[in-house]
Amino acid sequence: RMAAQAAFRAVILGAPGSGKGTISARIVKQFDVKHISSGDKLRYHIANQTDLGKKVKKYLDSGMLVPDETMIALISEEIKTLEGRNWLLDGFPRTVPQAEILESIHPISLVISLIVPDSVILERVKNRWTHLPSGRVYNIGFNDPKVPGKDDVTGESLCQRPDDQPEIVQRRLDEYLTKTKSVIDYYQKRGLLREFTGVSTNELWPKIQECIMPLL
Ligand code: ATP
Repeated sequence: RMAAQAAFRAVILGAPGSGKGTISARIVKQFDVKHISSGDKLRYHIANQTDLGKKVKKYLDSGMLVPDETMIALISEEIKTLEGRNWLLDGFPRTVPQAEILESIHPISLVISLIVPDSVILERVKNRWTHLPSGRVYNIGFNDPKVPGKDDVTGESLCQRPDDQPEIVQRRLDEYLTKTKSVIDYYQKRGLLREFTGVSTNELWPKIQECIMPLL
């Protein structure tokens, strides 16, 4: 089947606030790729107070990772609905067990790893406003909404993520260092890793575009 053969199955990795969401939005805008954000999915469940939302809220609030079992069930369900389509996973896998399961469901074709200095991340997260229902992100001074405090598409209010408070961001950075760095090694060993270093999305984007272009 042509579609399955040609399918682009990518993962985007990067510390919290490294710009995964913004880069993913650009990829989706330019290429025919479906974006799956584990964080957006979890926040949707929390906002709608589903059983899953009630179960995971404490982890997100404190900046800790949700247990693997829960994440694997959620994401593999989502991937099943996208058979034959191109997709980009954002925020999953975050641990080696998650990466191993993912590889057994669907071999990955490319892993994009964003490397941004911690100082830039902390500053950026302070200025970040989110439209929770869609996951659209704005950064004051860089990527401002057209009307202050309002989403460009729906006009609904923006809010700051509760886990974007500095102490919680630090916890998320620690979780990234201790757990997700091993995911980077996992993909490096398999020859799938492409690293992009920079201090701004605008600096990273052309290099990422160039890397994806031949694959789509
Ligand atoms: P950013 O959105 O700034 O890139 P992030 O990568 O920390 O930052 P999300 O991916 O939105 O943000 O994740 C937010 C929270 O959701 C995490 O702190 C964690 O609690 C939970 N989470 C998301 N994906 C996973 C996963 N694959 N495994 C475990 N927990 C997860």
